Amino acid sequence: MDYYSSQISNLIEELSRLPGIGSKSAQRLAFHIINMPKDQVEKLSGTILEARRKVAYCKSCCTLTDGELCPICASEKRDHSTIMVVENSRDLAAYEKTGKYDGVYHVLHGAISPMLGIGPGDIKLKELMERLQGDVKELILATNSSLEGETTAMYITKLVKPTGIRISKIASGVPVGGDLEYIDEVTLLRALEGRIEL
Ligand code: ZN
Repeated sequence: MDYYSSQISNLIEELSRLPGIGSKSAQRLAFHIINMPKDQVEKLSGTILEARRKVAYCKSCCTLTDGELCPICASEKRDHSTIMVVENSRDLAAYEKTGKYDGVYHVLHGAISPMLGIGPGDIKLKELMERLQGDVKELILATNSSLEGETTAMYITKLVKPTGIRISKIASGVPVGGDLEYIDEVTLLRALEGRIEL
């Protein structure tokens, strides 16, 4: 039985599709939105639409950006011959926050997971291999220490090793299964400095 008007039910249903939003949170958010001043709701929905329309992948590192190249790839101050491979843009942000890494990144947008049916073709690996044709001296693997992250790191190592490009992996100061974005900056820096050559 439907307790709410169909408009509210639709809103609750759409909100509950978002990650981390269960049906109770979706209800709470829906009623909050209904009670917000109309101009605020318009601003919120406009911002969501605008972000979705304008944000795209950086042509070089595949992070989310609103220009052709992200500010990091466009910067002359960065060392473009060192590429750190991360799973998502949030991990990139975590390393940027340390302010100590001056290379560039490559964002895979996921990790290989045979269990979930995510193969090498489903993440931005081809784009990474294309970048390696250029002047690259070191590749730093900073995928998560989950099974998927490790599988991905191993896969990339196998592909890259024959090219002679130096390849290293961040140290295991990062807790197993830990998402990089939740780890403090000191731990991240230690992991980066203590990286192990593969
Ligand atoms: Zn970029």
